[in-house]
Amino acid sequence: MSKTMPASPHEEAGTVAFCYRHPDTETGLRCNRCNKPICTKCAIRTDVGFRCPDCVRQQQDKFYTGGRLDYVIAIVIALPLSLIAAAVFTFIIAGIGFFSWIISFIAAPAAGGLIAEAVRRAVGRRRSRHLNSVVAACLVLGVAPFLLIMLLGGNWFGLIVPGILLFFGVGTIMARLR
Ligand SMILES: [Zn+2]
Ligand SMILES: [Zn+2]
Repeated sequence: MSKTMPASPHEEAGTVAFCYRHPDTETGLRCNRCNKPICTKCAIRTDVGFRCPDCVRQQQDKFYTGGRLDYVIAIVIALPLSLIAAAVFTFIIAGIGFFSWIISFIAAPAAGGLIAEAVRRAVGRRRSRHLNSVVAACLVLGVAPFLLIMLLGGNWFGLIVPGILLFFGVGTIMARLR
C-alpha cells in the first residue's frame, strides 16, 4: 500500500508576494494568465478574471488583427459613400418638405449603418482599434462641404437635415464598428 499522506517535498514560502510592478506592495492576487503577482491597483478585471496589464495588452494586440491597409480600405469605401449620403440628404430628403426631418431621423442611422456595414464587409473579420473613428471622420468630411454650401448661401434651415445625418450617422458608425 502506498502512503496516504505524502509529505510535502519542500515548505511553501507562504502566500504573500509582491506586485511585479510595485515591489513594495504586498499582494495575494495573481494574474490568472501568467500567474505573476499583481496588486489591486495594477490588476485589471476582465471577463475571465483578474489579469496583469501586460497580458491584457497582449490579448488586445491579438484582438486587433487589422493592418494599416484596413484604414485605407475604410477611407476608400466610406468617403464616397458619405459624399453620396450627404448629397442625398441635403438635396433630395431636405427637398421633400414637411416630412423631411422625420425621414432624416430614420434615414440617418440607416445611412450610418450602411456605411459601417460596407466597411465591415471589405475588411472581413479583421478588427482595427480606430476603424470606427476613421469611418466616422469620413462621414464628417463628406457632410462638411454640404454644410458649407448651406452656410455660404445663408440657408440656415438647410443645415438641419445634413446636420441630422452627421449626428446620427456618426453615432451609428461609432457603435457598429467597435
Ligand atoms: Zn499576466
Ligand atoms: Zn502594482
